[in-house]
Amino acid sequence: MNQNTPTIWWVRRDLRLTDNPTLNAALDAGGSVLPVFIWDDLEESLGAAPKWRLGEALKAFGAALEAKGSRLLLRRGDALEVLREISAETGARQVFWSRLYTPDPQHRDTQIKASLKSDGIEAASYPGFLLFEPWTVKTKTGGFYKVYSPMWRAVRDLDVGTATPAPKQLPAPELWPRSASLDSFQTAIAMNRGAEIVAPYANIGEAAALDRLSVFSDSAIADYNAHRDIPSIDGTSRLSENLALGEISPRTCWHAGHRAMIAGATGAETFLKELVWREFAYHLTHHTPHILTSNWRPEWDGFSWDTDPQNPRAIAWRQGRTGVPFVDAAMREMYVTGRMHNRGRMIVASYLTKHLLCHWRIGQKWFEDCLIDWDPASNAMGWQWAAGSGPDAAPYFRVFNPETQLDKFDPKRAYVHRWIAEGQASPPKEALSYFDAIPRSWQLSATDPYPNPIVSAAEGRKRALNAYENRSF
Ligand code: FAD
Repeated sequence: MNQNTPTIWWVRRDLRLTDNPTLNAALDAGGSVLPVFIWDDLEESLGAAPKWRLGEALKAFGAALEAKGSRLLLRRGDALEVLREISAETGARQVFWSRLYTPDPQHRDTQIKASLKSDGIEAASYPGFLLFEPWTVKTKTGGFYKVYSPMWRAVRDLDVGTATPAPKQLPAPELWPRSASLDSFQTAIAMNRGAEIVAPYANIGEAAALDRLSVFSDSAIADYNAHRDIPSIDGTSRLSENLALGEISPRTCWHAGHRAMIAGATGAETFLKELVWREFAYHLTHHTPHILTSNWRPEWDGFSWDTDPQNPRAIAWRQGRTGVPFVDAAMREMYVTGRMHNRGRMIVASYLTKHLLCHWRIGQKWFEDCLIDWDPASNAMGWQWAAGSGPDAAPYFRVFNPETQLDKFDPKRAYVHRWIAEGQASPPKEALSYFDAIPRSWQLSATDPYPNPIVSAAEGRKRALNAYENRSF
């Protein structure tokens, strides 16, 4: 290969320089490296908040590459056509990328690999998005894990390999092909006025993710067991938004957790377990991709959930106006910050699918629009777990009581006061900013009276149990 012939590094959900097997392979190829991000139909179809967050990630990653003597080339269009164009323009004969594990990108990538190969271009994919490739973790009988705990036991002591440092410089091609402007992707357009509100809460880019991991694993991880369930406390890593985009590798997080565990931090093992929940979601998705779109247990197809996203209960839920404080606080937290505490996610999902008897797909879709850490596998698994239609062994009739949960996890109501303005003489700025973020068409104001519960905890539980017991399977 000519000394400067570029290898195309097709960047997707690996927006980082540290511990990136695809980048390392491109460097090992010996020529220059041409990082390319392609805005194709799959990116265009993202929900509002994930699309905005991806745009911010691309901005940060472009700057990080420039600091290393490189650039992020942006193009819009069909991925295969763009890759062919760039290889024709630059003479590149190699295209490398980091694997993804959901059906749409997998399907696209398989076709692209075959087409590039038939053009005589080497196309190679690498790991890095997960700790363990889904086909490498097997049960004793050769199947995949459908229950989390045995999977955790199977992987907890596996060697995940060494995380590699970021290169000092990236060898640049002699000529840079033309690049589209990031603005032309209009990543913030669907957020309307919400983008400005969410922005201060986001932790964007690789450097910010590594800093956050270091702060978390040096201090908060010790109290992770005690604090991770308290939504008013900043007690978790908040790395999900970075993991979703590959701004940090799960292996880097894994090693940090291990180091903390060896140093005696009591919460560290639980943190490692959470990283394996993410793996579990992806392994399930790889082996049973229907988890993303339909009941993992098909017998649930016969359950009488309301599937109309415009029914008044679903609207009240989306607007944080159910009259149930824990639910409304969490829904507003998500609207303002693009994140929701895990305890909140479980409670709002249980309330929607059980108390309100609305289909989990309604909630899944709303999260897909609102979360800056949106992740297709974790989101689908979380929703099916809450609804009872997923692989989890928990009994289907477990219905979270949002009142007792509030007493347990927000006894002083710090979380509820932070997020619900109605009824407070001087509401905090977070609670008020909800009204700046929401669409004006909702016609809500901080001075409105707070609603009575649309379905109370007791009534909802009774209705849910009744529906579950009378189901037709
Ligand atoms: P930490 O507590 O610091 O955990 C560390 C990492 O472990 C997380 O960043 C995440 O990558 C992983 N993790 C933790 N809990 C889970 C879990 N239950 N399932 C899978 N991975 C986990 N997570 C997403 O990243 N994106 C989603 O779209 C998403 N949707 C969800 C929807 C529902 C209904 C539910 C119940 C959970 C969902 N989760 C989702 C999982 C979980 O709520 C978040 O990963 C977590 O709140 C992120 O905060 P953190 O980074 O501070 O997590």
